[in-house]
Amino acid sequence: MVTLRILVDGKKNKVVYAEAGKDFVDVLLSFLTLPLGTIARIVSNDSDMEKVSVGCLTSMYQSVANLHVKHFWKDICKEMLVHPRNSSEDYCQSIKLNIDDTEKTKYFICEDWECSRKESGGLLSLFKNKRCKCGKLMNREILPRNSSNCVGFVKDKFTFIIFDDLKVIPDNVHSSVTQPKNFGIEKLKAIKVVTVNVTQKEIVDLLKISLLSNTPLTDFFLRRKVFRVNLLMQRKTMVFNNVIAEPRDRGGFISLKVVRKKSNNKILFVQAGDDFIDILLSFLTFPLGGVENMLKGNSCLGSIDNLYNSILDLDSNKYLKSSNIKDKLVKSCVAQHFKLQEQILPIDEVPIVKYSCYTEQNNIGGICNSYLTTTQGYQYTCGNRVYVPLTYVEPLSSTCKSGFVKKPSLFMVTDDLVVRPGSSMSVVSFLTTLGFSSSEFDEQIIKIGKRECLSLLKASLFSSSALTDVLGQFIFPIKKEKITM
Ligand SMILES: [Zn+2]
Repeated sequence: MVTLRILVDGKKNKVVYAEAGKDFVDVLLSFLTLPLGTIARIVSNDSDMEKVSVGCLTSMYQSVANLHVKHFWKDICKEMLVHPRNSSEDYCQSIKLNIDDTEKTKYFICEDWECSRKESGGLLSLFKNKRCKCGKLMNREILPRNSSNCVGFVKDKFTFIIFDDLKVIPDNVHSSVTQPKNFGIEKLKAIKVVTVNVTQKEIVDLLKISLLSNTPLTDFFLRRKVFRVNLLMQRKTMVFNNVIAEPRDRGGFISLKVVRKKSNNKILFVQAGDDFIDILLSFLTFPLGGVENMLKGNSCLGSIDNLYNSILDLDSNKYLKSSNIKDKLVKSCVAQHFKLQEQILPIDEVPIVKYSCYTEQNNIGGICNSYLTTTQGYQYTCGNRVYVPLTYVEPLSSTCKSGFVKKPSLFMVTDDLVVRPGSSMSVVSFLTTLGFSSSEFDEQIIKIGKRECLSLLKASLFSSSALTDVLGQFIFPIKKEKITM
């Protein structure tokens, strides 16, 4: 439980601002580290509030969860999308109320001790039961020693002011916003200070509200019981403007077959190859802060833009635990081994940490335990310990680096980004389900690039018809082809 004080304008029944220390601010900042897939998963659970849908993200996430594992490159690829790892998990696990329920990264070495003691070096995996070069399974968990002991994001001694729209500023005596004289006498009379406690379960409500509302503190503290998710509906009608000022790639290079309903120009679905599907699904692995960074702090996602932009402005040396933490929040990367080789969107992967393994022997000479430690890159001996550098098995061709789904493959993606197998058979049966005759829709092949994919990312956050919103507006047919499905 975390305690904070809120200033409530009793007349308007609004939160003016909240005053909070590290515990609460760390929780807010941890939102920026959550991958979109994790967000889709968390907010689709009931908390004290009903479940919430975020744009097309929720429907896309659900369709991936329902997709048979045979459509993925490896079983683990589906798992990586449904439970994407948080690249700042070390920071989040130590905060007081962590809502990311994703399992912490584990490390595995060969079940054969000797394999990790060879002079030639052993193998290390972040996923259980990968195959070692000796042929045995890598299922022995190994614990990192001296792993970082980072506790949250902001320094302990400061207090922060959080406005109703999630703008965060350090509280200091010179700050004019907290001076009573700035409230005016009338207002001052109506102001009351309330001390509130927030539990872990309630933080899920706060996340839900923050993604949708422009006044999340008021909605969270004062109106939660009556808060309804009708904001989403308003958002849908918002003109899809101010998208990405990226230059259009020359021609674009991802081909999509677009099927559109003639009467209203609504895109029913696109048929796409694995190149497009990999990029689309990779959205689920992007942390919110990385998404904000790609969209230049303009995601239109409730009040998250304000939170993001205030961290961007924060003096990191003074208020954050270390100088590199700011980048972890405002330029957050995907977790190790999660970046697609062919990723066209500007998001990075956290730097790979190199490890060595050392084993400890018991007094009769048997091995009793082994540990991971950051490496020197070569084998060396220290006392009776032998340190052996380990190589990740992941970047080899056996993982998702080369993509999440099987290659080559065809999928269809509906307007709300539901992904399903897209063989000709399934396309025909989908159209039949919709009850359309062939004269009611037209088809064309288009090519898209980075700009359209960025726009899709943005639209996926708030629209429930992302394809129509993005492709309908940007894409001009390059050539019309007779479609043979
Ligand atoms: Zn082995």
